[in-house]
Amino acid sequence: MNKKKYDIIVVGMGPSSVFFAYENLKLGSKKDVLLIDQGKRVEDRNCPIEKTGKCVKCKPFCNITSGFSGAGAFSDGKLSLYNEEDEDFYVGGNLHKYLGVEETKRLIDYTDQIYLDFGADKHLEGIEYKEEVSKIKQKAKKQGIELISIPIRHLGTEKAHSLYKQIEEYLEKSGVEMSFGTIVDDLIIENDKIKGVKIKPSREVENEEAELEEVFADKVVIAVGRKGANWLSDICNKHQIKTHPGVVDIGIRYELPDKVMEKINQYMYEGKFIGRPHPFKDKVRTFCQNPSGFVSSEVYDHDMALVNGHSYKDKKSTNTNLAILVSHNFNEPFNNPILYGRNVAKNLNELGNGNIVVQRLGDIFRGKRTWQEELDRNTVVPTLKSAVPGDITFAIGYRTMSDILNFIQEMDKVVEGFAAPDNLLYGPEIKFYSNELVLDNNFESSVKGLYSIGDGCGMTRGLMMASASGVAMARILSEK
Ligand SMILES: Cc1cc2nc3c(=O)[nH]c(=O)nc-3n(C[C@H](O)[C@H](O)[C@H](O)COP(=O)(O)OP(=O)(O)OC[C@H]3O[C@@H](n4cnc5c(N)ncnc54)[C@H](O)[C@@H]3O)c2cc1C
Repeated sequence: MNKKKYDIIVVGMGPSSVFFAYENLKLGSKKDVLLIDQGKRVEDRNCPIEKTGKCVKCKPFCNITSGFSGAGAFSDGKLSLYNEEDEDFYVGGNLHKYLGVEETKRLIDYTDQIYLDFGADKHLEGIEYKEEVSKIKQKAKKQGIELISIPIRHLGTEKAHSLYKQIEEYLEKSGVEMSFGTIVDDLIIENDKIKGVKIKPSREVENEEAELEEVFADKVVIAVGRKGANWLSDICNKHQIKTHPGVVDIGIRYELPDKVMEKINQYMYEGKFIGRPHPFKDKVRTFCQNPSGFVSSEVYDHDMALVNGHSYKDKKSTNTNLAILVSHNFNEPFNNPILYGRNVAKNLNELGNGNIVVQRLGDIFRGKRTWQEELDRNTVVPTLKSAVPGDITFAIGYRTMSDILNFIQEMDKVVEGFAAPDNLLYGPEIKFYSNELVLDNNFESSVKGLYSIGDGCGMTRGLMMASASGVAMARILSEK
């Protein structure tokens, strides 16, 4: 750290933070800003799984989720835009609840242009085939499933990485101070007013006795993403920062042949299907679809391994993967969605000996686990080589599992082959959000001077809205 006191400290360097710093520069702000992340510079981040064949649980932090550009660096880089005619946002988060729909649309256009300026592909997916999409929508509706189709700009995993590298260089050349390998352990709050943060080096992550350094600021912006959701929940409890009860999305990553998903992939690139299957009527949705993509794994606190997926612009598989997620919230006497999700993940991780578990759909319907020999003969060849065949149903609760299986069967009537026995389920895929922070329209929390943006506080759920929330934050703080 160059100084002991800053005007603004941003915790986390995911897309929300990066776009905050970018816009702050564009506005010609003279404020001293410090960005802090527990991970590494983007060029130093790499996931060894391709060489090692299995997740080695990088220390001190997983390179997929931590460091410059956060979870964005290895993401598939699908930037979800919006339909001009829509009067609401159905994808990417709730930024519009703070700023209004029209302002959010303008903000997304502006943010999209920044991505284009840094080299994003000009081509938009999902805008050419309106008639074909409308027919699929009708078919889905008959099954009680809603299909949401919005324009998508696809960066691709390798392009996302290099694009964020350019932004990192731009910020650095422009004099933005960035502290890597640094954990924000706690906040300094006095009389309901933020004073600064307490930090320690990332190498001391396991050392609870490590000495904490204090860095002061008039304003602190929390931008910790899903990676920091657990930490943020603890911090909110400790300092009594106001929150709304949160949700947790629990589910699986589904892998099936490109051939089955051919039309959805061609017409929309990513179809977002939402159902409420019998008997629970919970919201079940598909999310993060990756045509010709690869299933991947990432590691969170306490070595928790979660599954995800991505796709490259050039390197292709013959499978499509997508998440099928069920939103759960709780009330009396238990209201801890993060703990619930962690317990599901822990059980499933243990069943996979620390690895992601994979199971054939046909085996689940036959009430049996999947064995390696069966996986070797399967027509859908798994793209996540480190996944261990087993039985997901031992760990995912009856309610979630019924939701997922009933949804898959309903989807089969919309997309033939969606419920084929050789299709693969990988688990656990869990999206943690901290209990949603109570924020005003300036993104300020119940603690004066403490703000929050991006996925971690429950405001956003994807790259574009997270990035746009950073732009909005810079504009708000420039006026203060
Ligand atoms: C494999 C993968 C694929 C994805 N694909 C897509 C996609 O195609 N489209 C899409 O819209 N979204 C996708 N996402 C989600 C997207 O990446 C996130 O929505 C987005 O990155 C959220 O941005 P953020 O700034 O809120 O937080 P993040 O990107 O999560 O960044 C948070 C940062 O905060 C740091 N941090 C956390 N706690 C602390 C602390 N206490 N001290 C210091 N630093 C801390 C972390 O190290 C991290 O770098 C994908 C994610 C993954 C992992």
